[in-house]
Amino acid sequence: MIDIERASKSYQGREALRSITFTVPAERSLALIGPSGCGKSTLMRLVVGLIRPDSGQISVDSVPMTPSTARELRLRMGYVIQDGGLFPHLTAAHNVTLMARQLRWEVARIRERLASLAELVQLPPDLLGRYPAQLSGGQRQRVGIMRALMLDPKVILLDEPMGALDPIVRSHLQQDLKRIFRDLRKTVLMVTHDMGEAAYLGDEIALMRDGAIVQKGPLDDLRQRPAEAFVSEFLKAQRLQ
Ligand code: ADP
Repeated sequence: MIDIERASKSYQGREALRSITFTVPAERSLALIGPSGCGKSTLMRLVVGLIRPDSGQISVDSVPMTPSTARELRLRMGYVIQDGGLFPHLTAAHNVTLMARQLRWEVARIRERLASLAELVQLPPDLLGRYPAQLSGGQRQRVGIMRALMLDPKVILLDEPMGALDPIVRSHLQQDLKRIFRDLRKTVLMVTHDMGEAAYLGDEIALMRDGAIVQKGPLDDLRQRPAEAFVSEFLKAQRLQ
């Protein structure tokens, strides 16, 4: 579903990504993790089509990402960023339904979808009339997830979605996300700095360093067959080894 083939990207002559290759098969989830500055966000922005690789190819749903396909491909992907990334001057409902309105969905269809999404992410519907500043961090993130799911994309991308939340809110949201992605059979690529979260939400983990993937696999593989000392050190630092 998501295919990255030998993608490289430099900023001012410095390589941020060095020939990255990986696949996320349909209905599977991959968590990208690694030290700050290792290239996680750059990789995510390539997949969303916000930036282009210097070389290499990104495909989503077997369609190569090019300037002419980027917009159409973006509609097949829901993107959730830290703290929801909501427009502050629009209500929660308006944030969620923005794209559907632009695509001229019928009012009844929009209303129905909004109600079913609120139920799915367990957001009390009366909160939908509020502005982002009138919601808690966890509620904002639930609205952000509703927005990402609105057009029912096959692919969901999450960039540190739980980064700004306290541990209990975070843990509830992680459980809900796992249920939602499994039930809706989404293909998921996420960035996190928390190995516990990566292992909980990702079928596989890709541990990155200096613009490259050091090892990709389930947490048990990383634990039992670390590709390099760095893998064990990283797990140890996260108290997982
Ligand atoms: P991460 O998300 O893992 O923290 P990033 O993808 O943000 O890493 O950054 C990877 C590298 O690219 C870092 O060295 C960072 O300083 C650099 N970088 C990221 N974005 C830009 C940019 N817009 N201009 C210049 N350098 C950048």
